[in-house]
Amino acid sequence: MKNWFRRNALYVILFAVAIFAGFGTYYYISSTLEEQVPPVGINQDEEEKITDVTDGSPAGSEEKEKKETEEAEVSTLRCPIDGAVLEELPQHRPLAVMIGNSVDARPVVGVSEADLVYEALVEGGITRLMAVYYHGEAGKIGSIRSARPYFVTLAQDTGAVYVHVGQSPQAEAFFKKYNIDHLNEIPITEGFWRTKDRVPPHNLFSSTDNLHRLAEKFDMDWTVQVAGLPLETEKPVITDDLRQSPEIIIYYPQQYSQVKYVYRKDTGDYLRYMGGKPYIDGSTNLQIRAKNIVVQYVDTKVIDGEGRLSMKVIGSGDALVFRDGIAYEARWEKTGLHEPTKFTTVNGEEIKFAPGQTWIQLVPTGTRVDY
Ligand SMILES: [Zn+2]
Repeated sequence: MKNWFRRNALYVILFAVAIFAGFGTYYYISSTLEEQVPPVGINQDEEEKITDVTDGSPAGSEEKEKKETEEAEVSTLRCPIDGAVLEELPQHRPLAVMIGNSVDARPVVGVSEADLVYEALVEGGITRLMAVYYHGEAGKIGSIRSARPYFVTLAQDTGAVYVHVGQSPQAEAFFKKYNIDHLNEIPITEGFWRTKDRVPPHNLFSSTDNLHRLAEKFDMDWTVQVAGLPLETEKPVITDDLRQSPEIIIYYPQQYSQVKYVYRKDTGDYLRYMGGKPYIDGSTNLQIRAKNIVVQYVDTKVIDGEGRLSMKVIGSGDALVFRDGIAYEARWEKTGLHEPTKFTTVNGEEIKFAPGQTWIQLVPTGTRVDY
C-alpha cells in the first residue's frame, strides 16, 4: 500500500515539475528529471522516437524538441496492468471475473476486453478463466461461474474485486478466513442477468459498468494497491541464445481443453485455439489474440470426492514466458496472499512483458507443454 501512494505521489510531483519546467526553471530541473521517471511500462526510447522530428530550423529547435520530449515522457501514462496508454488512471478497482470455459460455455463473452486473463483447471479436466478488467471495459461478460480459492488468491495480485456466482465449500471457507473483497451474484442478483440462449449454469452475465457500480455500492476498499506486470515496449533483440517459438501447445488433460497459441510475426501477437478450434470471443466473433503467454507450473492436488483441486499458487515454481515469438524459461514466486506473483529468468532477472493482453496459464507441475 505504501508503494502505491509513493508511486502515485510521484506522478503528481512529476506532472507539476513538467509544468514549471515550461516557465523557465526547465534547464535546471530537467537535468535531474531523467533519473526520477519511474512509471511502470513507460519506454523512453519509444517516446523519443515519436518526437524525434527535425524541422530544419537551426537555432533553438533542438532545445524545444528536447523540452517537448521530456514533457511527453512525464505526461505519458500507461495502465499498470497491460501497458495501454491512458489519459488518466481508472477511478475504480480492477475486477476479476470468474468465467466458465467448458464446451457449453463457449464462446466466452467479453474476454478480449480484459487487461489480463488467467486460465486454470477446475474439476473434470475443464478449465475456467478469470478475466481481469482495469482500464478494459465490456458491456457483457460471462458466463460467470463459481469461486475457487486459487483464483481468489490470484485476484489479489492485481488488487481486484473478485466476481463470482456461488463458490465451492473450500472457497466459502476461504472467504470466511480472509478479508476478501468480492461480489457474489448469490445473493446480490442486481447488476447480473441470465440469458435464454444458453442453458444454466452457462447463462449468467454482467458488465464492467454494473460491477463497478456494485463495488461502489458495497463500499469496497479504494486504497488497495493496483499492480500489474512489468512492461517493456521495445521488442527484444533476437540473439542466438534466445529461443524462437512460434507455436505453443498446452496439454490440459481433456482434448477439448487443450490450448494452442500461434505467433504471428506481422502483428506480433498470438492467436488462441482451444480443442483444435479458433477460440472466439462471442461479443465480437473474433479470435482472441494475446501479446504475452505465461505457463505457470503449480503443485495441484485433488482434494474431495467431486474432484475439486487445490493449487499452490503462493510459493514458487517453474514457468515459461512467451512474447514476440520468443520463449523464456522462467521462475515464478508469490510470497503472500496480497503480494503479486513475480516472474524472473532462471538467472533471476525480472521478465518484462509486451504491452497488451497477457494470458497466464496455470498447469499442474509435470504437464506437457510443447513449444
Ligand atoms: Zn489496462
